[in-house]
Amino acid sequence: MQKRYCSCGNPVHVQYINRGARRRLLFWAFAREGGATTCTCPHCRRTLNINELR
Ligand SMILES: [Zn+2]
Repeated sequence: MQKRYCSCGNPVHVQYINRGARRRLLFWAFAREGGATTCTCPHCRRTLNINELR
């Protein structure tokens, strides 16, 4: 897992899952409820995009 940061500064963990030729991304927001996958930043509610994370 990689630790990245939302543009608001909230840490987000990114997990790459390889299944054959397909690659999935999972975002983990550990700050919320002990670690659930999410597609929005728990802090600023922005939709997470790997290209916009720092
Ligand atoms: Zn954010």
